[in-house]
Amino acid sequence: MKYVQSSGTTATGPADWFTGAVYIDGVQSPSEDSPLSCAHVRFTPGARTVWHTHPKGQTLYVTDGIGYVGTRGEAVQEIRPGDVVFIAPGEEHWHGATPDRFMAHVALNEADEQGRVVTWLDPVTEEEYSR
Ligand code: MN
Repeated sequence: MKYVQSSGTTATGPADWFTGAVYIDGVQSPSEDSPLSCAHVRFTPGARTVWHTHPKGQTLYVTDGIGYVGTRGEAVQEIRPGDVVFIAPGEEHWHGATPDRFMAHVALNEADEQGRVVTWLDPVTEEEYSR
């Protein structure tokens, strides 16, 4: 067993990956021992990821607030604490807060053979965000 006391610094989400202010606390990065990647991600109202894919898929567990998750060709899905979202490998999607509420989720991904967990695409437009 290895215990890590709460420490470190919350990271801010890079502008290439997110629209609006997003804060990320890393839990685990892929290593030789495990391909698992895990982070707790907090979105301020209106903030969201850009469109992206995960080579091995992704599981989201909503911990706070009210958010949205969007995928190509479907209406935006509202998400709330306790909800679990499964994203398929290669599925283009985005996730974020609603315009008026914060949203936080735990994000779980597995790295592929090259160590990649995500491929970032284009920003989510206002029209896509409000659909
Ligand atoms: Mn995702």
